[in-house]
Amino acid sequence: MNTVSALECRSYERNLVDSAIRKAVDLLGGMERFVREGERVLIKPNMLAARAPDKAVTTHPEVVRAVVRLVKDAGGIPLIGDSGAIGSFKKIAEVTGIADVAQAEGADLIELSEARGVPGTGTFRHFEISSEALRADAIINLPKAKTHGQMLLTLAVKNLFGCIPGRRKVQWHLNAGVDIGAFAAMLVELHGLIRPRLSVVDAVVSMDGNGPGSGRPRETGFIMAGEDAFAVDYMLCKFIGVEPFMLPTLKAAREKGLFPETPEIDLLGDFNAPEYAGIRDFRLPPGTHLEWTIPETVRRFLKDALTTRPRVDKGRCKLCMMCADMCPAKAMKGQGAGIEINYRQCIRCFCCQEICPHGAIDIAEGWLLKYLS
Ligand code: SF4
Ligand code: SF4
Repeated sequence: MNTVSALECRSYERNLVDSAIRKAVDLLGGMERFVREGERVLIKPNMLAARAPDKAVTTHPEVVRAVVRLVKDAGGIPLIGDSGAIGSFKKIAEVTGIADVAQAEGADLIELSEARGVPGTGTFRHFEISSEALRADAIINLPKAKTHGQMLLTLAVKNLFGCIPGRRKVQWHLNAGVDIGAFAAMLVELHGLIRPRLSVVDAVVSMDGNGPGSGRPRETGFIMAGEDAFAVDYMLCKFIGVEPFMLPTLKAAREKGLFPETPEIDLLGDFNAPEYAGIRDFRLPPGTHLEWTIPETVRRFLKDALTTRPRVDKGRCKLCMMCADMCPAKAMKGQGAGIEINYRQCIRCFCCQEICPHGAIDIAEGWLLKYLS
């Protein structure tokens, strides 16, 4: 049976976060179960973009600090690393507050920039994964709980996509196109290659609504931890009132026989059952709850009518062009006073929304999807 722990944590006050994470990990057997003396441990937060901690886009620095301290206490050598989507990693680390944590706690901060080819183990022939991640003795995964316009939610399994260095991520988005199932299957296979020893989710303040970049930061008030990233994602869905197999990565894991239809998960900590977290109004990105249920062939055929799509708010857009620079499908360009999106080219990956520093991109539903919703 899988074990997942969840501890109440109502703010990012340092002692509260530290105590919640210590207890959550202790309930799983303590950090010594996951880290051995002298091991180099890569701590992998969500550091996708240069956004301040209160925007709820990236993992909060106090969560990173607490895990770094636990790793050191267990005799491990902590490294903090991720690969941002665009822009300078140094700037991302500074703005997210993670550079300060690394310096104060004496942990090396590394950009996952070098790639090493690794053969796939199932559907995909080849992956290019960060060599820094492959060299680490252990990986501890620190996702932020957020909604995601394409993948519904970005939790423990999706967070590992950051182990694919920088722009190589773009190629995966392009390969999958609008096929959510193919992208989810790739994430599941990638998880099997990376095999984090532990996942600790920052769900103190999560993001709901228009995630992953412009949603609403909202208090969910807990830290969740577990050895099995699928079990963590499953339980987190339960906590926020989302049917777990709506999550494409869990669905793909079930289809591959990696996660059961009715998992037995022992929930330890402050909540006797997911409902005790009291989260009843967690908003999903518009339309996605329905979109994923539509067969891929139909979605492809009626793409504009049946999918959600990014929409630029011209009033907020500062024409910084970061989105256009990032767009895997090269579907965006500066046009007069704003950004135009070519929806025929757009693959609905929502990378633009995730990285827009001004919250100028939201999610619009295709007319038929809206009608069905
Ligand atoms: S939408 Fe956002 S990222 Fe794109 S140009 Fe405007 S402000 Fe920059
Ligand atoms: S416009 Fe946005 S959602 Fe569409 S392909 Fe480009 S980055 Fe992805």
